[in-house]
Amino acid sequence: MNAQEDLLLVVDPQPTFMALCPDELPVPGAEAVIPAINRLLAGPFARAVVTQDWHGPDHLSFASQHPGREPYEVLEMAYGPQVLWPDHAVQGSAGAAIHPDLDMSRVALILRKGMRREIDSYSAFRENDRTTGTGLAEWMRGIGVRRVFIAGITRPYCVDWSAADAAYLGFDVFVIEDACARLGPGQALDESKLALEAQGVGFITTADLLPG
Ligand SMILES: [Zn+2]
Repeated sequence: MNAQEDLLLVVDPQPTFMALCPDELPVPGAEAVIPAINRLLAGPFARAVVTQDWHGPDHLSFASQHPGREPYEVLEMAYGPQVLWPDHAVQGSAGAAIHPDLDMSRVALILRKGMRREIDSYSAFRENDRTTGTGLAEWMRGIGVRRVFIAGITRPYCVDWSAADAAYLGFDVFVIEDACARLGPGQALDESKLALEAQGVGFITTADLLPG
């Protein structure tokens, strides 16, 4: 590992995606990523970035904003297909906070995303039009980052989209599989993994990074 060139990207470690918030967007087992990520933050990584999903209460990724639509339906938006989610990660809510158990001591930057009502932002690097940047790539290059290791919530959405964009933007990318939550059918997860591997993204586990 290289303290200057390597960065841990922690995607959306927020109670809104956990059993703590059953009426928001709970992802099965998501709370288990927190201790796994803390082990990484105490070990090989000198620096980390945390993303925080951060929507206004009327965000258009919410099914509640589309009369007659249900959560998890797919709606065609101007920028492409969009899954409609239950209301989640509402700015200032308890569920949208960063999980209180996350070790923030090596977190250099908290990047909030999804703040524009009309467009979702799964990726830490680009909004869902895959065009509008968040500034994270430029920030990372500015401090000399070359490799990004990704953990958090959740595959195959915000984690995988972040991995794809990081690779597209020229970084060496690794997804730390056992430090990521998973949502949806295994087939979709497998297909997303294959697509990322075809882009050059590596899949590793915490054991590859931590001393036995
Ligand atoms: Zn969201």
